[in-house]
Amino acid sequence: MYLIRIVNKFYALVLASCLSCTIKKEHQIPKLVVLISVDQMRGDYMSRYRSDFNGGLKYLAENGQSFLNTHHNHANTSTAPGHATIATGCHPSNNGITNNSIYYRNTQKSHYSILDTSINFVGITNCTLPKSSAKNLLKPSIGDIVKSYNPKSKSYSVSLKDRASILMGGHDANRAFWFDATSTQMVSTDYYAEPFPDWVKNYLGKEVMADDVAMGWLLHPKIRTTYDLYIDSIYQENGFFKPKFPHNLTHSTNQNDKDVGNFLWNTPFGDHFVLKFAMKLIENENLGISNHTDVLTVGLSAADYIGHGFGPDSYEVADYYYKLDQYLLEFINYLNKKIGQENYILTLTSDHGVAPFPELTHHHESQGERISQQKFQQDIDSIDATIQRELNLNEPSIIAASGYRGVEPNFKVISNPDIDSVKLVNHIQKHLKNLDYIQETVSFIDINNPSCNKLFIEKMRNSYNPNYGYFIKIIGKKNYLIGYKYNGTTHGSPLCYDTHVPLLFLGTNIQSRQVKDTAYTVDIAPTLLDYIGIEYDRIFDGNKLNLILK
Ligand SMILES: [Zn+2]
Repeated sequence: MYLIRIVNKFYALVLASCLSCTIKKEHQIPKLVVLISVDQMRGDYMSRYRSDFNGGLKYLAENGQSFLNTHHNHANTSTAPGHATIATGCHPSNNGITNNSIYYRNTQKSHYSILDTSINFVGITNCTLPKSSAKNLLKPSIGDIVKSYNPKSKSYSVSLKDRASILMGGHDANRAFWFDATSTQMVSTDYYAEPFPDWVKNYLGKEVMADDVAMGWLLHPKIRTTYDLYIDSIYQENGFFKPKFPHNLTHSTNQNDKDVGNFLWNTPFGDHFVLKFAMKLIENENLGISNHTDVLTVGLSAADYIGHGFGPDSYEVADYYYKLDQYLLEFINYLNKKIGQENYILTLTSDHGVAPFPELTHHHESQGERISQQKFQQDIDSIDATIQRELNLNEPSIIAASGYRGVEPNFKVISNPDIDSVKLVNHIQKHLKNLDYIQETVSFIDINNPSCNKLFIEKMRNSYNPNYGYFIKIIGKKNYLIGYKYNGTTHGSPLCYDTHVPLLFLGTNIQSRQVKDTAYTVDIAPTLLDYIGIEYDRIFDGNKLNLILK
């Protein structure tokens, strides 16, 4: 903790020295910033399901400013880098969170990007979740910056997922909370200095959501009749639940997963619980009622689990957004009543998108394929054998390979003075590119070559830190899942379906309109800080967006 506090003090110094001035705003400075990230919400969902929205998403679309062409401008489109980017306004190459799991070249091992064995859980006994903190986040979050500007400001973060909550909260959050499926309690750690609130111990998911759990997840009848979605009986749609509704505890596919906590993780009810918890947090910690700005970040993670299991073209994803629309109406109504419409700004975005099921891409313009881990490993072994022969090596040329995360050459071979290291990397890249499911490869050599103009090179540069990550990154062809499971779908590429996310700002003086100019998720933090009157743009990779006011 001592070290962490020193790091935080260092940030405080940096923050104080960077803070140039505060701007007088013509509009009223909000008392609460609410930043919501719906995990895996693709940029096209707002328009795709629009006709069915009758609640909070409709309210946001009709009253907020929507940036229709918003993308993550980094290649590794996964949860940890997505949330770190949203919160800090800096690319993963600078915020230090380049992936969910990061490969360290010196140990040749991968670790959870937010792993921190020095911390302990508080407010709960025997929590078996991974120990994690924001210590590896190299930039301040929006909450950190707001608090450095005014120490009276409060900053809280909440999500089912630890990485979403921790990384959006940053270093100096009053507290970040995340979900423990075993107890169904929101938990936290001693990384945060304040006492753990007692009310949280009694606010349990299994009790708050008991009626929904008993009823099970049922498809709203409107969904099946409204959308031309594909049949939900293909066997790849077989994750936590069997393919077809109803989804309840007895329909889980995994006998060990028949518990309420995991049921909440895998249904819209988990995210409803998070929003209910967020309202309780506003109430009990008195957010948004003083003469300074507080920050609340909310990660809705069940959306990601449902999307992984059933895919973006499923009834389940459509039904999730139908229900989220209702949950957000309840949340916005609460904010309007408790905080007042003129006293908050709400931003909605996402940490990444998702690829369709390859099995369903005959409906798309570009037919994809699922490349199993076994097939991918066979191809890597075959490339390795060829290169060993070509370069007359006695050792493997490749020591690790993992789908989107890429391929690691054997540096023992590269450090052999008889082998030209550039030649070895080039050989591996050439053979990888010959695989019919790979469209490009990008190595650290490419990234460091200013004249390299390979596909997605800018996004690659924004995802890479020289100290970690596989040396050669693979970009699959559109609609291909490489080295993935037999079921479900995923994200993690620089392709449009993974980078395109929604971005909406709601505030009483923000004009309702749709903006088609390209925006990036690194623009969110500078835009919000500008809106609340803090001039602080020198550390960001993003730019403040031009919010058009009434
Ligand atoms: Zn995911």
